Amino acid sequence: FSGWPKCCSLHPVALLPLTLILAFFGYCFLSPGSQRLENLLPGARAPLLLQSCDFHANSFTAFYSFRMMYPQPKVLTLCRSDVLVLTPWLAPIVWEGTFNIDILNAQFQLQNATIGLTVFAIKKYVVFLKLFLETAEKYFMVGHKVNYYVFTDRPADVPPVPLQEGRQVVVLQVRNYTRWQDVSMHRMEMISSFSRQRFLREVDYLVCADVDMKFSDHVGVEILSSLFGTLHPGFYAADRQAFTYERRPLSQAYIPRDEGDFYYAGGFFGGSVLEVHRLTKACHQAMMVDQANHIEAVWHDESHLNKYLLYHKPTKVLSPEYVWDERMLRRPPFLRKLRYVAVPKNHQAIRN
Ligand code: UDP
Ligand code: MN
Repeated sequence: FSGWPKCCSLHPVALLPLTLILAFFGYCFLSPGSQRLENLLPGARAPLLLQSCDFHANSFTAFYSFRMMYPQPKVLTLCRSDVLVLTPWLAPIVWEGTFNIDILNAQFQLQNATIGLTVFAIKKYVVFLKLFLETAEKYFMVGHKVNYYVFTDRPADVPPVPLQEGRQVVVLQVRNYTRWQDVSMHRMEMISSFSRQRFLREVDYLVCADVDMKFSDHVGVEILSSLFGTLHPGFYAADRQAFTYERRPLSQAYIPRDEGDFYYAGGFFGGSVLEVHRLTKACHQAMMVDQANHIEAVWHDESHLNKYLLYHKPTKVLSPEYVWDERMLRRPPFLRKLRYVAVPKNHQAIRN
């Protein structure tokens, strides 16, 4: 080294660390785990070392192995100019015209997601199950894996309904309550406890629905997200002061008049199992505090759902296409589809 310019000279003692550094980087570059690109290409075999990358490897392989043709999204062309399609916290509001179901289906097929649909049919409400399940088979998550979780005190009255492949009905026998308000409210407790016990293991997403409804048009993976709620059809145009939130400060569901984003419907919400577990557990605990304080929120579990979603913003919001009541409301022109609608019922007769 004696003939080299001073600045480049290396004392033999410096060679050892340099060799180690070069060997380290050489190993990182050449080791199987570092050659990710190769494993992302179609036909490449993912080595065992790369198990954590399997999901990405699969998704790239699938996306490169077919071409998907669809209209280009145009930055200067609105998909809807008549309704709000994004909340101020950047959650999509799902309306017909805002999504391409083929793109979404391709993405969820790669995830191989299973969707759990929870529904309660306690006491006389078992009569709604047949139409609910039959219409769900026609419109709900078609082409995806679905577990229907039917909570009931009358397992013998769950009707047999023919199911598509990859779908099953799981009957969960639970207790009933005398008051319909208690039946409705204790759904939060039961969903929360079954989430921990089995839903976390069995499904990726949970959709929690009222049973006195039917599906009447497509309801698919466009609704899925970490946490979603649905705009209540009676209040989508109302000012926050007019929302029927709980207004008594003594209740855990209390929301002051100058707060509130939307009024969400109690009969259709969901998300990842983890987020639904958090939500239902929090709502149940809040209802237990209310009970100890001898107060019951004005709209029961729906009031607590609204409180939770005000302070834990949903990552998607479903338009009233996803909960509608044709008997109560005239269909406005911007409502292009009615996907999940109330089945008329005699409240007195069915609840007593
Ligand atoms: N529910 C039930 N049995 C009852 C009362 C309520 O199974 O006796 C369940 C059922 O799933 C129902 C939900 O609780 O859809 C909410 O009650 P309901 O639909 O009567 O409330 P609404 O939609 O009329 O406010
Ligand atoms: Mn209902």
